[in-house]
Amino acid sequence: MKNGICRNCRKQSVFRKKADQDYTIPIRSFSVAAVYHFVCANCGYIENYILDDGKLRQIANNWEYVLPYDEPSPYEDDEGSAWTPPPPEPDDVRREDETDEHEQIP
Ligand SMILES: [Zn+2]
Repeated sequence: MKNGICRNCRKQSVFRKKADQDYTIPIRSFSVAAVYHFVCANCGYIENYILDDGKLRQIANNWEYVLPYDEPSPYEDDEGSAWTPPPPEPDDVRREDETDEHEQIP
């Protein structure tokens, strides 16, 4: 999104604007971070970012770290089957016409 390409629709139609003064992230006493809205003018997708590296470092040094863990999938069925990762993106999958070219039969 920050690179000008919409994460949702892949169009190069992203615009950004600094949020209002009353929409900031309080980091600690006397320190707030400005928020930037990134909006896709094609599909309306929105993301918000702090762009100041110094403020991001302050957050990393002062806020509570969130330990990563796997969240249950919202698509989990009623029987509670285990979460499985989504299938790879189409770019990662070899096309059939490519496999024929490079495949060597022993
Ligand atoms: Zn979009």
